Amino acid sequence: MTTLEQLAELEARHSSGVYAKRPVTFIRGAGAQLYDEQGRAYIDCAAGIGVANVGHCHPAVVAALQAQAAALLVCPEMFHNDQRAALQAELLALLPASFTRVFLANSGTEAVEAALKFARATTGRSAVVAAMRGFHGRTLGALSATWEQHYRAPFAPLVPEFAHVPFNNSAALVATVGPQTAAVLLEVVQGEGGVRPADAAFLATARRLCSEHGALLILDEVQTGMGRTGRMFAFEHYGVEPDILCLAKGLGGGVPIGAALLSERVGALAVGWHGSTFGGNPLACAAARASIQVLCDEQLAAAAARKGAWLLAQLQQLDAPVIREVRGLGLMIGVELRTKVAPLLRTLQEEHGVIALNAGKTVLRLLPPLVISAAELQQVTAALRAVLTEAL
Ligand SMILES: *Cc1c(COP(=O)(O)O)cnc(C)c1O
Repeated sequence: MTTLEQLAELEARHSSGVYAKRPVTFIRGAGAQLYDEQGRAYIDCAAGIGVANVGHCHPAVVAALQAQAAALLVCPEMFHNDQRAALQAELLALLPASFTRVFLANSGTEAVEAALKFARATTGRSAVVAAMRGFHGRTLGALSATWEQHYRAPFAPLVPEFAHVPFNNSAALVATVGPQTAAVLLEVVQGEGGVRPADAAFLATARRLCSEHGALLILDEVQTGMGRTGRMFAFEHYGVEPDILCLAKGLGGGVPIGAALLSERVGALAVGWHGSTFGGNPLACAAARASIQVLCDEQLAAAAARKGAWLLAQLQQLDAPVIREVRGLGLMIGVELRTKVAPLLRTLQEEHGVIALNAGKTVLRLLPPLVISAAELQQVTAALRAVLTEAL
């Protein structure tokens, strides 16, 4: 019989090498809890990198998947499908009336890739303005918008005509966006770049410049969407409407799916301009429908606002010299440290049973399932207090 240790070894031997793996094997999850092969429970403040917003294995998502798996797994977009039709309508019903169309993909980078292609094709322009510290994915188009050199350098040359302005610097946007700009592509809260919320003035400037110059404003809410920041979509905090909204991570309740939602300001798309074999498949659509239903029924965006505000206040009150700044929006929280975060994440996991993320080398990032309980949040706070006050 193969032991789990042997399996971990096997995986390490055969895996591509692009992932740093933590020495733990998870085999089950429920709500905000993960369980390893020995049955040890962990509180999950990673949620699969901001995916399990409705909690791990939410019964409604599991039931929808089971029912759909028995009904129809495969139905490419050349045919109509009941689940896809319903999902597209239900997604658009969450958005301002100007949003009228949906392109379904399988991941965040694919949602961004679609948005970039549609912006280029419908404006007839090619320049894209993104932000320093921005993260938009790893396929070559999305990677051209991603800022971090470690992700980019080995793959040069990337797509030309991508400019990066300092995040939250409106003057730099004014200086860069012009009649040649196809799109401005921004996160509302930068996730991988360190949990940095946009300033209202910065997003308002981006909106105004796009409207003035006939460029499209693409908001990448792959991480901030689906209730994460305390509203269904983070742009709702700002009163700034994008022309294209990119979603993925939390959209499918744990199942891979991405979406580019298009407002009527995006021009007509010709048949054949884009497509995907798996995009819009019934299984992912059924999971996303169930996940949206749970987010609404359980009012998880409001819960994220409430719980996030509580957690943020607890962390801001910590008297720990290692903390440089605590920031965030809803249940998307970053603790910027004066030291490297990796050893602290390891201590949190091994000694306190709390799974958290990094965002860069010095930011500890918390993206718990929005269903995390008050008792679990208390435990997380106690663990963070212990680890952060001992550090440095
Ligand atoms: C994770 C992420 C992506 C990429 O999503 P993948 O599903 O990993 O391709 C793009 N944009 C943002 C803001 C993200 O957080």
